[in-house]
Amino acid sequence: MPLDPAFTTPGRFFKGNLHTHSNRSDGALEPEAVCAAYREAGYDFLTLTDHFLPTYGFPITDTRPFRTNSFTTILGAEVHAPATSLGELWHLLAVGLPEDLAHTAPDETAPQLARRCLEAGAFLAIAHPGWYGLTKADADTIEGAHAVEIYNHTSHVRCDRGNGSALLDQLNAAGRRIGLCAVDDAHFHCRDYFGGFVMVKARDNEPDALVASLKAGTYYSSQGPAIEDVVYGEDSVEIACSPASVVMVLGRGSTAAHELGDGLTRVTLPLARLKAGGYARVVVADKEGRRAWTNPVWW
Ligand SMILES: [Zn+2]
Ligand SMILES: [Zn+2]
Repeated sequence: MPLDPAFTTPGRFFKGNLHTHSNRSDGALEPEAVCAAYREAGYDFLTLTDHFLPTYGFPITDTRPFRTNSFTTILGAEVHAPATSLGELWHLLAVGLPEDLAHTAPDETAPQLARRCLEAGAFLAIAHPGWYGLTKADADTIEGAHAVEIYNHTSHVRCDRGNGSALLDQLNAAGRRIGLCAVDDAHFHCRDYFGGFVMVKARDNEPDALVASLKAGTYYSSQGPAIEDVVYGEDSVEIACSPASVVMVLGRGSTAAHELGDGLTRVTLPLARLKAGGYARVVVADKEGRRAWTNPVWW
């Protein structure tokens, strides 16, 4: 029986945003103001991921001075290398980097850069695939990535290309076993913040513990709804959540099951049609259409 570690591992959930920019790259606000905005909005942690590019001096923005007793930060960056199959600069999200990460060499490829971030201990996500038309063949070259951004809020707000589920499902249908995350990618030039976040299960709200939980898949992602429990049984999955209008379980290809209703908080869905495909993931949507997503589990 598959286990979703977000709901079987001890600890509590901490709310965080993994992808954000400050004026150390192309964001509008000082790092201190970005941290304050998330802290005051009730987030437990934030990763400032400024663009790790020569034009900005390869920033690993130091957010450590803005940590408090109840709010922490993880050092990270959005790293870049040439070139996707459409000839554009790669964007990769690296959460949990050393402050002295070596600068990207002009001839470094995206797979090499990804490997270097992973070796440095980062949680690595394939950023906003919908935004720039990233293909499965592109994503296949980034070995060891932990997640695909299933939702990137700024891409949704600014160009209706925030959704990464098609790439995620193609990778997993091909046997990749990759997770997902929802992020803001906020730049604060417009209302592109507080739209996508992760709920990470950890013992403490401490950077190393949070990164370890992310790498282990011990979290779920959301635009608002809470997923309180997910228990996979032999032939069904039980989901407990905040009041929902639809609860779904999705598998390989078109396989899926769902229940529609008003204020659903406990749902049991059949898995018979999904098991042969090898994996399943749960999606909860509230009456405003906001989603929450578990990571996939595999039989
Ligand atoms: Zn980007
Ligand atoms: Zn970004």
